[in-house]
This record gives sequence, structure tokens and C-alpha cells, in this order.
Amino acid sequence: NADFIVDMGPYAGQFGGEIMFAGTKDALLKANTLTANYLSGKIKIPIPKMRKKWNNFIAVTGAKEHNLKLEKQTIKFPLDVFTVITGVSGSGKSTLLNNVFYAALMNYFGTPLSYAGKYAKISGDLNLIKHVEYIDQKPIGKSSRSNPATYIKAWDDIRLLFASQKAARFNRLKPAHFSFNVEGGRCETCKGDGIIKIDMQFMADIYLVCDACEGKRFKNNILEISYRGKNIFDILEMTIAEAIIFFNEDTENKIAGNIVRKLKYLELVGLDYLHMGQSSAILSGGESQRIKLAFFLSRENNEHTIFLFDEPTTGLHFYDIGKLLKAFGKLIEKGNTVMVIEHNPEIIVQADWIIDLGPDGGNNGGEVVFQGEPEDIIKCKKSYTGKYLKDFLKKYRY
Ligand SMILES: [Zn+2]
Repeated sequence: NADFIVDMGPYAGQFGGEIMFAGTKDALLKANTLTANYLSGKIKIPIPKMRKKWNNFIAVTGAKEHNLKLEKQTIKFPLDVFTVITGVSGSGKSTLLNNVFYAALMNYFGTPLSYAGKYAKISGDLNLIKHVEYIDQKPIGKSSRSNPATYIKAWDDIRLLFASQKAARFNRLKPAHFSFNVEGGRCETCKGDGIIKIDMQFMADIYLVCDACEGKRFKNNILEISYRGKNIFDILEMTIAEAIIFFNEDTENKIAGNIVRKLKYLELVGLDYLHMGQSSAILSGGESQRIKLAFFLSRENNEHTIFLFDEPTTGLHFYDIGKLLKAFGKLIEKGNTVMVIEHNPEIIVQADWIIDLGPDGGNNGGEVVFQGEPEDIIKCKKSYTGKYLKDFLKKYRY
């Protein structure tokens, strides 16, 4: 509905930064950009022909937190599939998924939440579930030194790789010397940050590049160690896409192989434009959420985990939504369960199962209006989501 559109791209990070289009919506629809092609329906995320069927479930009986009116009902949350919780704003989606369902599972696992909502009983195939993870958009680390590579543990392998180089072994350098979190190899003037915060009293803080290391975060003897022509700082400066190519070239090296395997998960969730050393402090909420997702995907652990997301597509382009859906698919392939709260029709049509709350918000919400597959919600007269989804499917000629 915008009067004027500026479309940036073509992709993200170093692969973006150009103006692909500027003008009215009608003109955009005739242009050939990613945004235009998604808006016009030229590119669309394919809808699965068959919804994945489920047998196992967790059931919550008697939820009555906030506006929920489910005292006499048992709501089944399917396992092994992709479930989307829908409904207008204020209909009770977060209350049901977070305050009740998540809290009930945390209670079951013996780690109760302070904000647990009221419900009578949790039942079903609880014995099949080993963990539950609520993946929010909070920052991934308090320290400004945490970054995508440290969060998914690829940095541990990189430190190991540098410490195993001949010159490092000769100088008795250990993996810890290549860490910016502990004393030893890091620059102590900036404590491995590369920048120094100057407290300006009544004005905003300013940041200066550290004089001692010139922003390179490590001591000189550490920066002298190189692996295939790159030192540890060069690695931090690479984008994840560049790092994948770089480490992948070392085909015989097992540690390099591990690094590539972990970094590929950041690529999978669409974050390969980030720099390896990008401080987590400047990541957006959506980026933080996807890094957490990449971490869980990279784990070798195959115990059934229920993953919960609250509006994971907030701020995402259609192109990124496609990637996010692939990542959800991978989690389910690995034997997990994914449940999300979503308004976005691109996500809702992908659901194996929908739990629709409403009919309206606030006091007029809190009921389960529909439970079932997307093909059936469009026939449900009482559901706003159903009506909206029907229009969406028609408009894009699915
Ligand atoms: Zn320094």
C-alpha cells in the first residue's frame, strides 16, 4: 500500500547495498527484483501437496489464563509436525503457547516458570519429549565479544585449528590463546574487543579503535600465526559465506570440515552475509533468533525437542521466509516438533496443523475457533484467518 517503494538488494550484507528499484507499486510489479517477483507471485514458496500426518501429541486441559476460555476443553498439540498458532492480535495466541503450553511443559520437566498461566492438566505422549526450547528474539550474548561464530561453537574449532599450526605449537600456544574471552592471547588494552568505550558523562558513549592492537583484538605474537595465509583477525573479518569457501578448500583437514559443517547452518538460516566476528550486540532480534535456530540445527543431539517461536518472520523478506521454512523442515526431519505463532500467510499455508484462536481480540477472543489443516480452515466461516488465507491463495493462484 506504499505510495513510493525503494527496493534494496539484490541480497544481504556484502551481496546487497544497491538500489534495485525506486518508484510506485505498479511499476515495481513490472520490475525484475526479488521483491517484485514475490509480490507479483512470479516466485512463490511451494505449498506441500500433502500435509504431514501426526499420531502423537501433547494435550493441555482447562487453560484459563488471561482471556483464554478453554476451562472445559482439551487442546491437542501435535508432535513431529509443523503447527502454526493463528488468530487476530489479542486473541490469546501467546498466552496459549507461551504462558500455558510452554509453562506446562517446563513444569513437567521440573523447571517451572515464574509466569506460568493457569491450566488443569497436561497429558499425552510426554514420554516422547526430551526438551522444549522457546526461541525468542533476545540478544544471543551479553558480552559484546560474542558473535555468530562463537555462538554456534565454530570458533572453538577455529581456535583448535590455529593452535595446531606448526608455528603455534613451536611457541606453545594453546587454543585459549586464540580466544578473546580470556587473558593470554587477546589484547589486554581493549580486552579483545578491538574498540574502547569512552564514557562521555552527559553525552552518548563514543567508541574508539584500540590503539594497542589497532582494532585487531589480539597480541602481535598471536596475529603472526597463520593458517593457509590468514591470521585469526583475517578470519574474524570474513563473512560467513567467505569463511565457508575458505575452510572448505582444506578438504583433508577434519577440523576445517567441522567448521564448515557448523557454518553451513548459518547459511541455511540465511545469515551467511554476517561477518564471523560481528558483535552480537548489533544483531537484530530476528538475526539473533535465527542464530539460535542455527545452533540447535548444528547440534549432534537427536533427542526429540519441541521448538516454539513467536512470530519468527517479523521483519523478514519473502526470500528469507523461504529459508526459515527450510530450517523448520530440517528440525522436523531430525525428529523434532516445531510450533510457531504467525500472522504471515506465507507461513500459515505451510502448516501441517493450525490452531486458530479468536474469534476476536481481548474479551471476545480466547476460544479455539478451528483446529485442522490449511485446506479446511478456508472453509471455516467463523475464522478470520480462514477468510484471509482464502483471499491469499486466490490472489497468488496457488
Ligand atoms: Zn586492543
